[in-house]
Amino acid sequence: MRKALVAGNWKMNGRIAKNDDLVSSVLSGLASGNLDSSVDVMVCPPAIYVGQVRAQAVATRLMVGAQDLCEFEDGAYTGEVSAEMLVDVGCSAVLVGHSERRTLFGDTDKRVAAKLSSAVAAGLAPILCVGESLEQRDSGDTLAVVEQQLLSALSGLSPEVLDLLVVAYEPVWAIGTGRTATPEQAQDVHAHIRQVLATIDGPLAEKVRLLYGGSVKPANARELFAQKDIDGGLIGGASLNADDFLAICRAAVAG
Ligand code: PEP
Repeated sequence: MRKALVAGNWKMNGRIAKNDDLVSSVLSGLASGNLDSSVDVMVCPPAIYVGQVRAQAVATRLMVGAQDLCEFEDGAYTGEVSAEMLVDVGCSAVLVGHSERRTLFGDTDKRVAAKLSSAVAAGLAPILCVGESLEQRDSGDTLAVVEQQLLSALSGLSPEVLDLLVVAYEPVWAIGTGRTATPEQAQDVHAHIRQVLATIDGPLAEKVRLLYGGSVKPANARELFAQKDIDGGLIGGASLNADDFLAICRAAVAG
């Protein structure tokens, strides 16, 4: 049985005071007993605020992740943040290959693979984001695109990587658009992702958590999370509102 995970991707949003309020509200929601421990909860603030959020969350069940990392080890890479640094400030996970990084910041498949490898080497759980554009969906290429992104990100790595790996299926046309994949559309892709992972290692593939992301809201979360291969969500916009985020976390409670 896989434990659900709901991770909030704050993207480039936040200020010290706002973060403090948001995290305090999420923590009081988590402490109120309305959310049992069958769900792991994580927030991924901008790198500059990771330390702040981690200090607030330390000794609570709220996990902290980062939104990106540099593929290289520490050294002369001005402006970058390494996997080891993320571990040092208390991150347990990092998003890799988010579509905004791929389309706006030049994260090629090759760079995504290098980032994933760096994350794993440092002991960070990579949350690998994959997903097709609207054009690719309309031309019937969804499964092939997702499969290619997945295999290229994992190429050259040992099957044990699946022990740490989380995959987020995020159709590009659903991110921040208010358009969500139907539960059936999402389940079809998730089932395919699990099949592809099983070609690497069958038993480990069963343990990999597959998140859905793309305009998840309190109103649609339960139906999505009820699908067999959907083990939680990667939440953008709605993670900036504590009530919405907590409602989505509650929708992931088992059974
Ligand atoms: C995301 O950025 O990962 C995301 C899923 O965004 P949203 O929930 O706003 O669509």
